[in-house]
Amino acid sequence: MENKSFFSVLHSLGFKNAIIILLIGIIPFLVCVPIYLGAYKSVSIRTDAANLMAQAAQYNNQIVTSGYVLGEYNSVLDTELKAMADSYNGRILVVNSALTIVKDSYSVDVGKTVIWDNIIRSTQGESLYYYDDATKYLIVSVPLSNSEGELVGTLIINKSMEYINQNIDIFVSYALIGAVIIISLAIIVSIFVSIYFSKPMKKMSNSLDAIIREYSNELPANKSYTELEDVSEKFNEVIKKLQAIDQSRQEFVSNVSHELKTPLTSMKVLADSLNESENVPIEMYKEFMLDIGDEIDRETKIINDLLSLVRMDKSDSKLNVSAVNINELIEHILKRLKPIAEKADVEVVFESFRPVVAEVDEVKFTLVVTNLVENAIKYNEEGGWVHISLNSDHQFFFIKVEDNGLGIPEDSVDYIFDRFYRADKSHSRAIGGTGLGLAITKSAIAMHNGEIKVRSKLGEGSTFDVRIPLNFIEKEAH
Ligand code: ADP
Repeated sequence: MENKSFFSVLHSLGFKNAIIILLIGIIPFLVCVPIYLGAYKSVSIRTDAANLMAQAAQYNNQIVTSGYVLGEYNSVLDTELKAMADSYNGRILVVNSALTIVKDSYSVDVGKTVIWDNIIRSTQGESLYYYDDATKYLIVSVPLSNSEGELVGTLIINKSMEYINQNIDIFVSYALIGAVIIISLAIIVSIFVSIYFSKPMKKMSNSLDAIIREYSNELPANKSYTELEDVSEKFNEVIKKLQAIDQSRQEFVSNVSHELKTPLTSMKVLADSLNESENVPIEMYKEFMLDIGDEIDRETKIINDLLSLVRMDKSDSKLNVSAVNINELIEHILKRLKPIAEKADVEVVFESFRPVVAEVDEVKFTLVVTNLVENAIKYNEEGGWVHISLNSDHQFFFIKVEDNGLGIPEDSVDYIFDRFYRADKSHSRAIGGTGLGLAITKSAIAMHNGEIKVRSKLGEGSTFDVRIPLNFIEKEAH
């Protein structure tokens, strides 16, 4: 439980907001400080180099005219240059045009030859500087020339740049203090921001709680952010859908109970009337028992239809698909229905435009054809006809069931596929209809990813058109 609440804090909007605000505060800081420090270092080196070169130029005349550059002794220059070198925590060298060190403020390398590229170039007239990052020393070399402009040597000044690092250390410690202030401010701001932004969500969560506990059945309008407003609207649509499903379930249950009760009531009435009368002739017993048998058949039919429907309504119900010869199957079904057709004096004609083999669930598909043809026979008149035709293209096969029977009233056509709906209640009941046949038919067709359409005119007849894909494609589970 503790772990769960820890993770839910990590995943909360408030925490994520806080991280973003912190990053917005800290990232510019992390980027700018190193850039600024780099710029400070290079500007310091360049400025110091320029100052040293200017100082070296000032000594040019003194060093050349006094013969110092040729190695002559000069106590004033010795003292001055040594003092300057000490003040820079560095070293000053004078090199003649033959690249030999003639003066050294450390007095250790006099007489040695230097062959460093910068010094060679300075003896040829260039003023140069070089910063050695390892030792933190700046080395400036400036050419020395006499009054005729001839190059006579090079003055080299080394200066310790340690002070840059000391300054950078001070700057970094100030930057750290700044960072601590920024982080603290960012934390405070993010706490306020997250409280502010998560308030409407909290409100919505409370409203959802009220719906779960059934105190309310609608989310109140949420005017905080467009996104949240959208979510609440969609949520209300979902609630309405669920309510509609619940209502249709309740209607279905009450219809089922009513339908199941009717044959039971009839049987009870028949049985009671036999029980209550005395000296009932055997013929009357027989007649009543026949009626009771009919009611039992009716009850059985309703239950069987309901079971078929429930099996098809189950969301996880699977089709038992195989390649079926549709022509043969229809002929087989019609053979079974022949006695009903003959009894009703209705002519049934089957016309096939081509042989069709399709991937269907044979049991469920049989229900489709049986229900449609049975209806066309049932809702017909003596001497009427039923035409069944079968056709296909490269993708679908088509079955048409047409009759010249009673037809369906215009205001009923939209409802005939509803469960327990009967257009003509008395007639349907009289011929043993349950009002479930077309609902079963429609579900079975939908399971095959097919479609059914009806056209009908009262008194003239009806046409049912069915279209089913030849190859079954399993719907992806969501
Ligand atoms: P039932 O068991 O009552 O036949 P169905 O679901 O099969 O139930 O059909 C629903 C209603 O649609 C029927 O009660 C009937 O009024 C109407 N109906 C269905 N097929 C036809 C048809 N071929 N001609 C006229 N009416 C039809």
